[in-house]
Amino acid sequence: MSRDDKGNETVDLEAIRRKYREERDRRLRAEGNDQYVAMSGQYARYLEDPYVEPGHDRAPVTGEVEAVIVGGGFGGLLSGARLRLGGVDDFLIVEKAGDFGGTWYWNRYPGAACDTESYVYLPLLEETGYMPVRKYAKAPEILEHSRRVGRHFGLYDRALFQTAVTAMRWCESEGRWHVETSRKDVIRARFVILAGGGLHLPKLPGIPGIETFKGHSFHTSRWDYEYTGGSSEGGLDRLADKRVGLIGTGATAVQCVPHLGASAKEFFVLQRTPSAIGARNDRPTDPEWARSLHKGWQRQRMDNFTAVISGGDFDVDLVNDGWTEVIGEIVLAARRRAATGAPVEDPARLMEIADIEMMERIRARVDAIVRDPATAEALKPWYGALCKRPCFHDGYLQTFNRPNVHLVDTRGRGVERVTEQGVVVAGREYALDCLIFATGFEVGTDFTHRMGFEIHGRDGLTLSEKWQDGAETMHGFFVHGFPNFMIISPTQSGQSANFQHMLDEQSKHVAYVIQRARALNLSRLEPSAAAEKAWVDEIIRSARGRQAYLQDCTPGYYNNEGGGFDLRETKNSQYWRGPIAFVKLLEAWREDGGLKGLECA
Ligand code: NDP
Repeated sequence: MSRDDKGNETVDLEAIRRKYREERDRRLRAEGNDQYVAMSGQYARYLEDPYVEPGHDRAPVTGEVEAVIVGGGFGGLLSGARLRLGGVDDFLIVEKAGDFGGTWYWNRYPGAACDTESYVYLPLLEETGYMPVRKYAKAPEILEHSRRVGRHFGLYDRALFQTAVTAMRWCESEGRWHVETSRKDVIRARFVILAGGGLHLPKLPGIPGIETFKGHSFHTSRWDYEYTGGSSEGGLDRLADKRVGLIGTGATAVQCVPHLGASAKEFFVLQRTPSAIGARNDRPTDPEWARSLHKGWQRQRMDNFTAVISGGDFDVDLVNDGWTEVIGEIVLAARRRAATGAPVEDPARLMEIADIEMMERIRARVDAIVRDPATAEALKPWYGALCKRPCFHDGYLQTFNRPNVHLVDTRGRGVERVTEQGVVVAGREYALDCLIFATGFEVGTDFTHRMGFEIHGRDGLTLSEKWQDGAETMHGFFVHGFPNFMIISPTQSGQSANFQHMLDEQSKHVAYVIQRARALNLSRLEPSAAAEKAWVDEIIRSARGRQAYLQDCTPGYYNNEGGGFDLRETKNSQYWRGPIAFVKLLEAWREDGGLKGLECA
């Protein structure tokens, strides 16, 4: 970055664009998303639940309920809570894990925490009377909050844990869904709500030889504390004599690396693309501030956060953290530049400059923290600020100053091979006792594959067939040919960096629809083909701007691993006009009261 004669920073746009392109091109792979392998067959053991006692057994459940909710993460919990609040008590929540919590049930790795502020992330704080202990909640506190929501709304009585749905069939003559499970339950339900989560099915990299490794290995979402010792607070004492390798440097790795670095004898971080790491600045909750809050504060704060991070209108940034800085600051910096009276430039260019300046600060932070210049250079991210999930951590970069921690930078190519003894990068073998996969979760694979079961709608049509060429919904919830069926997921729906905000709005919506159907004495509802088509067209139209940005990004799950957005990918993506527009659209739809677009009987 250089400065002009007035002392203003100037950006060599072309040079940075060239560098970004080079770095992206180096990472593009012909296999795209197919570079990953699903955890089935010989890899199925990576999915086993380490947190339950073996041998759970119960009698099959039969009978009829108003609704079956699939998933006991926050989407399912919020749906259950909202149904209860609306006077609907007759439902079941089917969850494959041993408790509520969803992603927080599974992800218990050392250091796990949420870097969306706890006061906007943890839902129903006012309703449950809970105040988080710090600005950023750690995983155990979030898991406990999910249990609190479960207890507060009496959802434990309605839950079938350690139970996976195996199939769902619509019975036209009965006007009911038949839900079959791994515990031989056959439950009849008037409505089904699928709240299976967005990033929930772990994946492995398809590195040649991965199946041959003779040491210990696991995925971060099934942390093996039996092997490592310690807890989510760290102290992994059984690694003191171990050589440990970690594949992946995304948001999960950023949080567990400091603990592995502190505990392992030798620790190798196998990097393909560095994350962008901003400061976290966590702090305890100020009790005086907590006492000063008035009724409705959480809704106001959630709305404000989402407005700031999605380019909406806001007078004050209530959360004022790394997220609002990364996104809010790009918007504000562009506005400030425009206000200096400098020659009028086009807004996209101003945003691009602000984005680059933000990333320059991120790169400068690496130099300020990491002592070895070559390591610092390798840890610098060269892509736009919104190409990958921004990370915030005050101990990750520092870990690379430890003598036992080695950054193995694969320069975008990834680990070359896994052998019986370890991994090979650029022809050199690194012997390991333990190999940990922080390689993320399936995105862009078939929805029914990720859910783990097929859905048979009206006239025997399956959801897999219906969505063969991409998702088709109305508002992300309703599917033509699938009566009394609602989905809570990011697909064709509003999305925010605060997932919980959207889950809360989505759960309000599904609960409203069920209550309204009851009030109007409706036995079935599904979107008309025309209403569904109109929404799919809107999804396609809304995708253009953001996809142009992502197209130039380094590969990752945000941009279909750099594979571009064909029609199918576009249909499988989200509502790109943003979360605020989405929430307004849902509110207007509910206010109308007529269940517009749904055919009802
Ligand atoms: P990600 O998908 O973000 O990261 C996977 C990592 O594995 C990437 O660094 C990827 O590199 C790397 N990788 C994949 N294949 C290879 C290979 N062959 N060789 C070397 N490296 C490889 O998964 P995460 O679990 O980190 O995060 C998933 C999401 O979960 C986040 O984006 C976020 O939404 C959420 N999350 C949020 C947290 C928070 O609040 N702090 C914490 C943890 C997760 P490459 O980038 O090159 O593809």
